[in-house]
Amino acid sequence: MKTINVAIDGPAGAGKSSIAKAVSAELGYIYVDTGALYRAVALFVTENNIPDEDIAESLGKAEVSLKFIGGAQRVFLGDRDVSDLIRTPEISMAASRTSSIPAVRAYLFETQQKIARENNVIMDGRDIGTVVLPNADVKIFLTASAEERAMRRYKELSEKPGCPCYEEILSDIIERDHNDMNRKTAPLKQAEDAVLVDTTGMNLEESSAVIKKIILEKTNGGEA
Ligand code: C5P
Repeated sequence: MKTINVAIDGPAGAGKSSIAKAVSAELGYIYVDTGALYRAVALFVTENNIPDEDIAESLGKAEVSLKFIGGAQRVFLGDRDVSDLIRTPEISMAASRTSSIPAVRAYLFETQQKIARENNVIMDGRDIGTVVLPNADVKIFLTASAEERAMRRYKELSEKPGCPCYEEILSDIIERDHNDMNRKTAPLKQAEDAVLVDTTGMNLEESSAVIKKIILEKTNGGEA
């Protein structure tokens, strides 16, 4: 059976996950957050103090997998659910670094393609429309200014104890953008056939409505 694949790429904090989650729930698709896979590898590497030059050969022991529990994605290292542990600024930065290693990208490639082959998905990441799902039915490149992305993240994190300040988040975002756009393997860039959506000044409802409209238009009302 042909499945519908929607690829949403863009820089950190552009709203990809919130929008993709909302729209996939409305359309009955599975939402796949591929950043969680890269974060899980980064956690594995950090916890085991693996130097960058040894990462490639250690991946066989990482056992990274995704499970969908009640429709919600959880990421595992072996049988340990690490979905919450991967959401720290330390792991964000480690993921940004380790994701530039070609062996890491190759290791996660089939996991992503298999889910898309078997399900209607909205998959978000950096290289989904360009590398992982080059034949996706819909490709969207989602962006917003670095300042707005940092402010959104700041508001999200400021409810938690020990949260970083706005300037720290902004400089992390700028550094991660730079890493993602300038790496040699699968850099963050807009696919030629992707629709560009800039969410600067738009709230979640407005952005989700725009994305849903694009998906429905390009898929004859969401039917495979
Ligand atoms: O999307 P998220 O910020 O959780 O991703 C964490 C890191 O994983 C990113 O900074 C990026 O370097 C990497 N990533 C990637 N390719 C993807 C998804 C994420 O390189 N498809």
